[in-house]
Amino acid sequence: MKAGLRDLIMERMQILIQNATSNARHDPETAERQANLAKRLSTKYRVRMSYEMRMHFCKKCKKFIIPGLTARIRLGRSDVKSIRITCKFCNHTYRKIIKKQITKE
Ligand SMILES: [Zn+2]
Repeated sequence: MKAGLRDLIMERMQILIQNATSNARHDPETAERQANLAKRLSTKYRVRMSYEMRMHFCKKCKKFIIPGLTARIRLGRSDVKSIRITCKFCNHTYRKIIKKQITKE
């Protein structure tokens, strides 16, 4: 695959996820459609979603989840900087280690 096409798909997926996130509150159906479209692009062109994009999909039921809306986010207690994400659709909880954006306090 051409490198340019890969960038284009990546950009498309990013826009879809962004739109889905902003639509989620007032138009969940559209949001779900846009999220699924992004996922299909990823599968079809074998372009891996970025870490930020993957965070929006539940590991278990694969549904599109919005932190603070359809997913509950809690900070982990251990030394490792992590967050716990609970999907409100299937109640599955998974942990994400935060690699970036570590702020020294
Ligand atoms: Zn789920």
